[in-house]
Amino acid sequence: MRNVVITGASRGIGAACAEAFSKNGDRVFIIFEKNYAAAKKISEKTGGILIRADVSDSAAAAAAVKYIHDSFGKIDVLVNNAGIAQIKVFGDITEQDWDRMFAVNAKGTFLMTKVVLPDMINKKRGKIVNISSIWGQTGGSCEVHYSASKAAVIGFTKALAKELGPSGICVNCVAPGFIDTEMNAELDDKAVEAVCEEIPLERAGTVEDVAKTVIFLASDAADYITGQVVAVNGGLFI
Ligand code: NAP
Repeated sequence: MRNVVITGASRGIGAACAEAFSKNGDRVFIIFEKNYAAAKKISEKTGGILIRADVSDSAAAAAAVKYIHDSFGKIDVLVNNAGIAQIKVFGDITEQDWDRMFAVNAKGTFLMTKVVLPDMINKKRGKIVNISSIWGQTGGSCEVHYSASKAAVIGFTKALAKELGPSGICVNCVAPGFIDTEMNAELDDKAVEAVCEEIPLERAGTVEDVAKTVIFLASDAADYITGQVVAVNGGLFI
């Protein structure tokens, strides 16, 4: 049985990944920060193991991974999905907003990867899937700090894939477009309609659309794929 660690798995895309990996026969570890009730529900649905950890905190990330290694021996797949977003015009973004955005979205990916990697390198095997965003590819107006942090995840993915290829570890990235989750809860129906009009496939993406791609990249079917950014965006950016 593979051990799959998914950060930010209490809700949205991470929760859908937990369900998909669990259906696949994998053991899932559900990392979450605040939302215990939601995480517990996903754990009950998937049989997944709950771990509360703020991925931007190096001690918490290390403790979470140590617990998994000590109790379950190995980690086969890491999905760096935990993320935050914020809509603000550039002039209103504070230094604190910028630092928190990068702490969770970019540094969180770095910290989790750093503690998971040594064992993968020893075993010469492993899959890492990072969740970026269409805005990391194209830039999103009124989301400069979010877009920059997600572009960082793409650079991280490409560089690490080159470094880890000889160690037999694949590192890839999924760049979702507009996906129907709580992250977009601020948008009213009119705004959602306006975005969907721009999407060639004429609908918002579902969390399952993203999870299916993550499952593929973490599977043997993707053994010759590394350093790639796979866009799950309905054609919104081609
Ligand atoms: P979501 O519904 O807001 O869920 C975010 C998840 O991240 C939650 O499980 C949350 O945990 C967790 N999280 C936040 N900060 C954390 C931290 N410091 N440490 C650990 N976990 C933390 O978001 P989503 O829409 O599913 O997005 C998932 C990923 O996809 C994000 O990286 C996001 O940027 C990316 N993405 C989303 C979209 C979209 O349209 N939805 C598009 C492109 C990319 P708690 O619930 O415990 O707080």
